[in-house]
This record gives sequence, C-alpha cells and structure tokens, in this order.
Amino acid sequence: MKITLRPIQTHPISAFALCMLFTLPWPLRAQSRLAADLIIRNANIWTVDKSHPTAEAVAVLADRIVAVGSNDAVETWHGPHTRVIDASGKMLLPGFNDAHVHFVDGGLALDRAQLNDATSAAEFARRIGERARKTPKGEWVMGGDWDETKWSPAVMPSKELIDPLTPDAPVFVSRYDGHMALANSVTLRLAGITSKTPDPPGGVIVRDAQGNPTGALKDAAMDYVYKVAPPLSHDERLRAIQRALAHAASLGVTSVQHMNPEYADIAVYSELLERGELTTRVYAAPLITGVDDQVKIGIRHAFGGPFLRIGALKGYADGSLGSGTAYFLEPFNNQPNNRGLLSDEMHPVSLMQDRMMKADAAGLQLCTHAIGDQGISIILDLYTEVVKAHGERDRRFRIEHAQHMAAKDFERFARLHVIASMQPYHAIDDGRWAEERIGHDRASRTYAFRTFLDHGVRLAFGTDWNVAPLNPMLGLYAATTRATLDGKNPNGWFPEQKLTVAEAVEAYTLGSAYAEFQENDKGSITPGKLADMVLLSDDIFHIDPAKIRDVSVVATWVGGKMVWDASGKSGH
Ligand SMILES: [Zn+2]
Repeated sequence: MKITLRPIQTHPISAFALCMLFTLPWPLRAQSRLAADLIIRNANIWTVDKSHPTAEAVAVLADRIVAVGSNDAVETWHGPHTRVIDASGKMLLPGFNDAHVHFVDGGLALDRAQLNDATSAAEFARRIGERARKTPKGEWVMGGDWDETKWSPAVMPSKELIDPLTPDAPVFVSRYDGHMALANSVTLRLAGITSKTPDPPGGVIVRDAQGNPTGALKDAAMDYVYKVAPPLSHDERLRAIQRALAHAASLGVTSVQHMNPEYADIAVYSELLERGELTTRVYAAPLITGVDDQVKIGIRHAFGGPFLRIGALKGYADGSLGSGTAYFLEPFNNQPNNRGLLSDEMHPVSLMQDRMMKADAAGLQLCTHAIGDQGISIILDLYTEVVKAHGERDRRFRIEHAQHMAAKDFERFARLHVIASMQPYHAIDDGRWAEERIGHDRASRTYAFRTFLDHGVRLAFGTDWNVAPLNPMLGLYAATTRATLDGKNPNGWFPEQKLTVAEAVEAYTLGSAYAEFQENDKGSITPGKLADMVLLSDDIFHIDPAKIRDVSVVATWVGGKMVWDASGKSGH
C-alpha cells in the first residue's frame, strides 16, 4: 500500500497508515508537518508501560497515541489545529478495562427502583409506587435489590404492602441475594399463581395462614413469573446500554468485557457502533451453552474491531459463596453437610468438557466462572485436558472470580497460563463474613491477589457490575487496602494479599487488555496504542490508599475523543 502524507491531518487515518508513520525517520515527519489532533500536557502520567513508566505529555493523532514524553518532546506534534489540554498536574492513566461486567443488567439497574437502602417497609413501598407511575404502559417494575434486614422492624414484605400503589403495573422486585422476589397482585394474576398452585421442585410460593400466596416467591418459584415476563424490548435494551455507556464514561471505564450477553445485546452494540455512539469498547462473551453458534460462523477469539469483539465463551462451574453454592473440597464450616453445587452445565462434567473441546478446536476463548476451590480445580483439570488434546497455543484460558484457591492449585494455574479474572470489590464485601463460612485456612487463600502474582499468574481486574459497583476507584481501593466494608479490618483482611497501587492499576488496564488479546492496542499509554485515557482528581500513588475510593474522574477519552468531562465545558 502506498502512503501519501498530507501536510496536516484533518481527518482520521487508518491504524495501518498510522503504524507506517511510526517507522518514518524524524526529518520526514517534520517536513510533512504531521500534527497531533490532541495534546494533553502538564499531566502526571502513569503510563503502565514498564519501559517509560512516567511522562508529562501525550499526543494523539486520530484515535491513536503518537507520542508520550516530556512537555517539550511532545510539543513537536503541536500544529495549528491541535487541541491542547493543560492537565494542571493531574494524574493521567490508561482508561480502565473492566474484565467482567453484566453491562445491560447494569444499565437497567441504573433506571430501576433503588430499594436496597430503604430503611422501612413504607419507604420500600413508596419507591415502588413512584417507579410504577413513571413506568411506560406494558413495561414491568423490576430489579430493586431490597433487603428487609435493613428495615425497622425487619419484616418480610407481602403484596398487600404494594398493591394499593400499583393497581395496573406488574411488579416483580428482587431481594438483593437474587433468591427471592416479591410480586404484586397484577403479576400473580399474569403468572397464574393462586392458592392452588403447587410449589415447584426447588422453589417455594410463600403463603399466609389461609394458604394464599403473599407475593413472595423463592428460587425456582420465581420462574413462574419469569416465564410470563415480557422479554426486554429493543428500545428498553437500547436505553439500558446508553445509560451504561454514559455511566462507564463518567467513571473512566473505556473498555468492558461483557459476560453472558444475550445476542440481542450484541445487536444493539453493533447498531450503536454503526451510529458512532458506542463510547466504550466491548468484548462480548456469550454463554458456552451456545458454543455451536460461534463455531458455526467460524470466528475465532477476539474477532472484530477496536470497539466491538466477540469470540469468547462464558461457562459456569459452580455457584457463589454467599448463597452456599460455591463448590468446595470440604464442607462449609457453618453447614457441615454442604460442599456447594456444580452448575447445571457441569452435570455431567463431560458435557462441559465436550463444549470446551469444541470451542477450543474452533479457536474460541474460554472464560469459566469458578469460585469454590474444587470448582476451580475441576476447571483446571478440564483446561489441562484441552491442552492435551489440542496442543500448546496462546489461548488465554480464564477463570472468572477464582475466589477460593486450593493451595495445591496455584502452580498449575500458572503453568496452564490461566488468567485470574478477579473483582477486588467482592473481597471487601464478602470479607465481612467469609471466614465464619470457610474458616481461617481457606480464607487465607481467598481473593489471593498476591499469591497469584507471586506464582506468575496474570490478573485481570473488573467488578461484576451490576453485582458490584462499576467504579474502578472502589476496585483499586479494595485491592490496595483489603479494608472490609464493615470497617472491621482497617489494616486489611489478610493484608499479606494486598497489592501496590501500581500492581492494581496494571491489573485493571494492561492485565484486562491481555485477557482479551488486546495488549498491543490497549492497556498502557504507549505510542501506537488506542488513545483511551482517564484524568483523575487526585494522585492515587501519593494519597492515603484509604482515600482512593473518593477519587473522581475529571475527564475520559476513548480513541482520542472526550467522552466525559466533569467540568461540563465540553465532551458529549
Ligand atoms: Zn458475573
């Protein structure tokens, strides 16, 4: 391909052309007077690039970084049309890459009734009534994450509480643990649930003294309602994603890895991409149960463009610690007969193995949720079988969460080059009560960030949003302090597992980029990479780590385009 240089670039050039330019000797570039579109100067830059960890200024041409260095060095890229931003000494980092989100659920939750912090049954009911009035006809009031233990008095809610406020709208609001939800009478009617409806296997219809349903449905009984709830409309999905994109931009999250999206989510991403409105980069990993779909198309891992990729599959080995379903070698300390549960997909384990083999043969990437030590161990066994069957290759196996490790497994985790895709916020949340459930010894290998690094395992950080907040500052705070949310471990819960700020930032940027095969394009402020950057209110390397959670985002750039500006002066 022949590259023609124009005096001043006024419109985007291809990444390929840009790569060619890097190889041009300096005088030629000077002659052609190629100039940057954007220069950020007077910044306190932590590049996450080990060859040049710090810098003052960065120049961007089209969507890529072209120069990083001192103010003077980068000034040579200044042309008549270059936009110059003075960062006033604030800290500039590569944009955060959240390696594990449920982006549409998160976007939906942003607009749903917030019930979690209600302090009484009356407040709970009032918020549901208010949301019902604002909900368009035909849509349901859902979500909520209510927690009656925070009410005084702490009473289980029933439909009588909300019926008078919601005469027309179907309501089905979930308890925060996802194991129970409350329906109003409209919803019970739609689902056909009456006093005569039997409890399904694995579920309970909560009833009053007369045997009438109270509206509270547990576990499998919730399926009666889910069966009749309308699927998200295209418009609802689109609005949820737009809200999620704006939220991500405001938090400096420039890339997300969307675990178990529906295909309709991917369709909306591509629609927004076409409209130029996708402002967060997305790698989508649909469920492994649909492995045949991606195999049939013939795409391989990380297939797509800088804004949207597919080619990964998300599987489930087990459940969660909180619900007692994470699968352990030994029983829970507080439940001597319970070791947890393998997921449906693991019954039998050979079913999961067949799917993994098929996926790997097709060149797809495997991301498997595994939380209990035995759940993790079985997935490592399966990954070993995959390598045995198909030979060594750069396949970047992932274990999502990797929460509770058996001591014997760290070494082979490293040997198999498995990426530990972890969410540090869960550590300071679960850390409040994990030890009473699994005991001191197992807890010492829980969210074992340091032990993983010591074994040479790569970390990729994220949040699991909307299970936890999307804000990366909370993740950095959690990884560096391990101070549990209840304030009981100010010096850290298993403090020997704390990370330094630099290590935590790397896991949240370059580590996550590596986990999606994008470390050559993202994850550090390096010439040639995509210009995804975040300017912070404070220098997180020099403040007390306990204050990191209060740090805010001043501005966010994705591909050199400002997508968030806290001052409101520019941006979208
Ligand atoms: Zn998740």
